Amino acid sequence: MTVGVLALQGNYEKHLEKLESLDCPAVLIKYPNQLSQVDGLVLPGGESTCMTLLMEKTGFHTAVSKFAKEKPIFGTCAGLVLMASESNDSRIASLNLIDVTVDRNGYGRQVHSGIHPVELKLNGHTISESSMFIRAPKITRIGGNVEIIGKMGMDPVAVRQDHHLASCFHPEMSQDSNIYSLFLEMIHSHCLANAV
Ligand code: GLN
Repeated sequence: MTVGVLALQGNYEKHLEKLESLDCPAVLIKYPNQLSQVDGLVLPGGESTCMTLLMEKTGFHTAVSKFAKEKPIFGTCAGLVLMASESNDSRIASLNLIDVTVDRNGYGRQVHSGIHPVELKLNGHTISESSMFIRAPKITRIGGNVEIIGKMGMDPVAVRQDHHLASCFHPEMSQDSNIYSLFLEMIHSHCLANAV
């Protein structure tokens, strides 16, 4: 099982390091044709408007949309903005993978960034983690088929729909790796379910 990390812009190196620290073979994805080599894809945090422009210019928008029909994607922060079916910014070309509405920078600007406790619901257990929010999007609407995986107080901050996962925070910046384990499990069960 190999996981790709989209490496157009943003914090992709840290995701790669984190996956490698979990003994998961991981590769930076710089060209759309590399997607055929991976079983799951991470869309990192960064700047969703910039990533939209780069994805449209390089053919990644179409390639990732196609990839998503077959394989799991985990979007973090700006990655969530791209995956959300709706956002408050018309410059974002949505991949429309998770039926939520997000408010870009909904948790404030850079000066409001910080580490906050998040409760994750994983395999029936609730785990508390310290998670980093950096100009994070706020989820303002949850669609009917969306499962809430993580909460900060009353706010949903990690969500799953079908074989896709997304978080408002930056798990690659934290000591914990529970949400990566969930993503790797999702890839594993998706591979098994689709094995001929
Ligand atoms: N505010 C950024 C955006 O909307 C996301 C910030 C981040 O990924 N840390 O694109």
